[in-house]
Amino acid sequence: MNPTEKLQELFLKFPGIGPKQAARFVYFLLRQNEGYKIDLAKNIEMLKDSSHVCESCLRIFSKSKNKEKKLCSICEDESRDEKSLMIVVKELDIDAIEKTGFYNGKYFVLGSVLPFLTEKPTEILNIRELVNLIHTNLQNGEKSISEVVFALPATDEGENTINYLKKTLSQVVGIENLKMSTLARGLSTGLDIEYVDKNTFKEAFNHRE
Ligand SMILES: [Zn+2]
Repeated sequence: MNPTEKLQELFLKFPGIGPKQAARFVYFLLRQNEGYKIDLAKNIEMLKDSSHVCESCLRIFSKSKNKEKKLCSICEDESRDEKSLMIVVKELDIDAIEKTGFYNGKYFVLGSVLPFLTEKPTEILNIRELVNLIHTNLQNGEKSISEVVFALPATDEGENTINYLKKTLSQVVGIENLKMSTLARGLSTGLDIEYVDKNTFKEAFNHRE
């Protein structure tokens, strides 16, 4: 496989990119000057040393300054409300919610929604990590999580995921210790959290149930 074929194959792995778009990216790169290509290659190379998965919320972050850093900036921020934990599918959802400036709790990245008829949900969702996080947190006493808010896509698979999480979490922590709520559906039907705007999020959050 020559470099253009290899690159095309690599671009195909990008989210939402099909063969035609992948080929378009390769042609685009072929036309760029040497400086651009070196700059791109160098920065991709540097990503391997600078990205890190947050030990608490599992969000990927760049740790360019402090290589020993284990928590992302949100988990590290003590001014945030530790009592509220919002469950999202991906980092882009956190970025969108943060942009609204309306939520001041913590997050957890689930990694995916749960398709129907899945036999091994633990291989698809970061459920073990979530259970551990909540379990450890509840033993911390004063600052412990009191509410888990599901901010998942308003789709059938999103619903399936919420049902699975509710069942699993209540088995582990007991329903009486933890309030579980879901962003209001009517207001966010079919909406990917990644594209949520301030007013929609505010309404969906205030009417969570
Ligand atoms: Zn984090």
